[in-house]
Amino acid sequence: MARSFIHVDPDSHFPIQNLPYGVFRPRSGGPPRIGVAIGAYVLDLAALDLAGYFDRTAASGRAVFAQQSLNAFMALGRQAWREIRAIIGRLLDADEPALRDEEELRKAALHLQSDVELLLPAEIGDYTDFYASKAHAANVGTLFRGKDHALMPNWLHLPVGYHGRASSVVVSGTDVRRPLGQLKPPDSAVPFFGPTRQLDFELEMGWLIGTGNEQGRPIPIEEAEDHIFGLVLVNDWSARDIQAWEYQPLGPFLGKSFATSVSPWVVPLEALAPFRIPAPEQEPEPLPYLRRRNPDTFDIQLEVSLQTDAMERPERIATSNYRNLYWTIAQQIAHHASGGCNLRTGDLLASGTISGPVKESRGCMLELTWRGTEPLRLSCGEERVWLADGDRLSMTGWCRGNGFKVGFGEVAGRILPAHRLP
Ligand code: MN
Repeated sequence: MARSFIHVDPDSHFPIQNLPYGVFRPRSGGPPRIGVAIGAYVLDLAALDLAGYFDRTAASGRAVFAQQSLNAFMALGRQAWREIRAIIGRLLDADEPALRDEEELRKAALHLQSDVELLLPAEIGDYTDFYASKAHAANVGTLFRGKDHALMPNWLHLPVGYHGRASSVVVSGTDVRRPLGQLKPPDSAVPFFGPTRQLDFELEMGWLIGTGNEQGRPIPIEEAEDHIFGLVLVNDWSARDIQAWEYQPLGPFLGKSFATSVSPWVVPLEALAPFRIPAPEQEPEPLPYLRRRNPDTFDIQLEVSLQTDAMERPERIATSNYRNLYWTIAQQIAHHASGGCNLRTGDLLASGTISGPVKESRGCMLELTWRGTEPLRLSCGEERVWLADGDRLSMTGWCRGNGFKVGFGEVAGRILPAHRLP
């Protein structure tokens, strides 16, 4: 098993097997730059580049790491990503002296994570949200339309999605303001304007597009994963009452666009390779452009925790797994581009709420409380049907290796009270 010269706790999400990319700024000052997480540290790639460690690679001379987003690096493509990852892995290896024994370089290139600020990892041009968990689609369908019409007729034939809002994607740790909107509860004859009363989270994972496709040219499903740079945790905050009133016939709008939170570390597809598992059976068989020879997915354990103002520590309220998704990433990308839509470097595509078959694996409050009829009882004695002001919601995820974890860190956000009505 590979080992780094930096000590990594077995429970850490960031051993040498992971090496996720992020954008950081030292609290002591200086411009944002690209780094890789290793244990409790961040390895500064701009410093390594300056020291010549990426000479004679595709990244050479382009200053792709002295940037405030991963976009320039992601645009280089998979060959370059592999090359750079191999160099970083070698430099961090316990048996490699190049960085280990160079005190000056180590001082310049290694920062404690507690000494840096993590920023939004990419300049996100477009954000698309799918609806790929069958349990989630069936639960929500049952709640809104009844058991007999739970899944819409299209659901088993295509990965349903909608175009979200990229401008309001924020990095973990950013507070989220309770949104205002039009509400029309069943007991109200006419709509009114005010703060949402049904603020929710959605447990999702997303992937950043590294290299895109030419407009008009679909992406063959067998090539779809070549376009993915890496995966992040996503909380697709939702205002259910705003959503319920506005969504027909064109889909979600203001009930979703006020904020979407992502985790700061982007886990490369290469780090997830050991955690591939066969994709779920699909019946009926999808159309040929959505069929893959050996469809697979990932075994990623997911958890959601809530901490209210009155609680001293977070309490777990849901556990799920990425494998609960019916549609694979490759299918979602192939479908997205199939009509001729061009994906671009930095686009964020997200899975939709990842719910599983049992009650504990429901990935949002709407399902966990069965639209408010089964309140969550927290150990502090409080109850929640929806999120309250001051609540801090966090999500984490990891793959379990033999003696190590490949993890995603955390995506967290705290609810601020709504602004006064304009
Ligand atoms: Mn969503």
